[in-house]
Amino acid sequence: MKAIISGNWKMNGSKSQIVEWFESFFNAVREYENSNVLDREKIPEVLICIPDIFIDYANEIANEYNNKSNLFKVLIGAEDCHYEESGAYTGNTSVAFLKEFGCTYVIVGHSERRKFQLESDELVAKKARKALDTGLIPLVCIGESLEVREAGDHFKHIGQQVIQSTEGVDLTKAIIAYEPIWAIGTGKVPSENDINEMCNYIKDALVKIKGANKKTLRVVYGGSVKSSNSNTILHMEQVNGVLVGGGSLNGDEFFKIAISSL
Ligand code: PEP
Repeated sequence: MKAIISGNWKMNGSKSQIVEWFESFFNAVREYENSNVLDREKIPEVLICIPDIFIDYANEIANEYNNKSNLFKVLIGAEDCHYEESGAYTGNTSVAFLKEFGCTYVIVGHSERRKFQLESDELVAKKARKALDTGLIPLVCIGESLEVREAGDHFKHIGQQVIQSTEGVDLTKAIIAYEPIWAIGTGKVPSENDINEMCNYIKDALVKIKGANKKTLRVVYGGSVKSSNSNTILHMEQVNGVLVGGGSLNGDEFFKIAISSL
């Protein structure tokens, strides 16, 4: 299974930053283009989820670079979507729009949306189902707060959250992103054992309760991933990739994270 290296730009970026990002990512790729050091079969799936307003522009730039590279391709994703196709939902973005503008992935249920937009597990599952119906792959985010972790309730919390946030969701296609809230943007990362154990626990819960196939489930880790720790994280047995916030804003740094999966 290929690793998934996904970025989340949050409410950051500009047209010029997109151009610089692709230039520096593919500058770094160029060094490897004509060498045989990389196992091409293992090149990860690379994507950046960016603000909706930049999706069309970023896809144009991505296509230019992707067409010239025989190693890495960068796909464009969104950071959220609505659960309806269209209608009276002022200010929202439908998955149909995202698809029309070339998105292939969409993050749903990020902890910042759960906190600031009060999104529930039920709503997150509805968005994930809609994304899949439209042909987009949802990255369904789950994660515990520091309070929950310190109370020792994190397994129970994550178990419930993952089951409820994937109600009716095709788990052969969706990706689960385990992002402990206390690790997001803080520089704090759970221990190697804690990350692997939780990703394993998530998979086991989905196998037990939803009859999922453990071998095809994809669970990625997110929370203060940088090129300095990505190699260790990406080689944990139960971790299928990473979701990166701050570390995805720079193309060169993001390439280093992507290459550390190999
Ligand atoms: C995120 O926002 O999903 C995230 C993981 O952020 P950071 O990598 O900055 O901790």
